[in-house]
Amino acid sequence: MIKGIFPIERFRELQTPFYYYDLELLQKTLDVVAAETGKYGYRQHYAIKANANPVILELIARNGFGADCVSGGEIRAALAAGFPASEIVFAGVGKADREIILGIENSIACFNVESLAELEVINGIAADMNRTANIALRINPNVDAHTHAKITTGLQENKFGINTGLLPGVVGEMRGMKNVAFKGIHFHIGSQITDMSAFRDLCIKANELQDEFDGYGLKIESLNFGGGLGVDYYHPNHLCIPDFENYFASFAKLVKPREGQQIHFELGRSVVAQCGSLVSKALYVKKGETKQFAILDAGFTDLIRPAMYDAHHHIENITGDGEMQTYDVVGPICESSDVFGRDVSLNEVRRNDLVALRSAGAYGEIMASRYNCRALPESYFSN
Ligand SMILES: *Cc1c(COP(=O)(O)O)cnc(C)c1O
Repeated sequence: MIKGIFPIERFRELQTPFYYYDLELLQKTLDVVAAETGKYGYRQHYAIKANANPVILELIARNGFGADCVSGGEIRAALAAGFPASEIVFAGVGKADREIILGIENSIACFNVESLAELEVINGIAADMNRTANIALRINPNVDAHTHAKITTGLQENKFGINTGLLPGVVGEMRGMKNVAFKGIHFHIGSQITDMSAFRDLCIKANELQDEFDGYGLKIESLNFGGGLGVDYYHPNHLCIPDFENYFASFAKLVKPREGQQIHFELGRSVVAQCGSLVSKALYVKKGETKQFAILDAGFTDLIRPAMYDAHHHIENITGDGEMQTYDVVGPICESSDVFGRDVSLNEVRRNDLVALRSAGAYGEIMASRYNCRALPESYFSN
């Protein structure tokens, strides 16, 4: 175990549980993304939903990334953090009228439209506002991302995107709409994808769809592949920066871009997961007859991924160096699902030891809730 990456003295002063973000690691990660996308002229929009902490958002915006939003609240957060409206795209199956109005008022880059019903509403609202909304069609490519069922989005049975069989009808209707301007197509097949063959399947599907759109006489100026690149939750120290090189190279190898076309990505998790940890305090060690439990002051209200997605987080006792023992690491919430890990090896846990849940920068703080009337976790930064 690597000790010493956390400022323990400082942590001792802080009320637990809290999120701690290593901004140097985030900056290094952003540098790698910028270098790899720069090789091919690709454009990266950070997916705000992975982590909308204002400090994180401002750093990402300062690095010149665009933003991918899935709600009006996220559009506001992105604008407040300094992302230019011209670099904001807006996806989501259930955009409310007021969210569409907000997007049009701010002249965001593009609405990624997920159904014919939504396209009709956007066209109507834009007409009422005497405006034209840029749109891309989010297509459900029916590609299996081989990831957890709750974060698979690109299969026909999922609620996201327009199924390919419906495209001719949607395109036909779109031609009659005066207040939407077609800019391109969009995909997002799921999250925590570690099997690169899913992205290869997506590239092949995108090439076929480009041919189909050529047949409609529609120009795809923007080809957006969404996000989904997974991170290594088992090795947060050694593999702290995901393999962006291989990821972008596999698109560069397979996608056949059209002249003047801009290729976009919307990575969220892979950008921010490894820079964040949830730091909590051990309240009790409870010895059962067959197990012992390390009971933390953090629960699924602070980090819901293990309860919701059966997700693994590497857990460390960052203040103890006693011999290794086996614990079920649990929180205080009154639900049996409030378990961070079973049969976890930790240096012997004593009351008031600090325990870190690593790789918690994505879908951690932002999903915190107030269930059991708990306070939301605070956040602190490396500098
Ligand atoms: C969630 C989401 C993303 C980001 O996914 P990650 O797995 O975090 O990279 C990108 N695009 C859309 C449309 C999304 O909903």
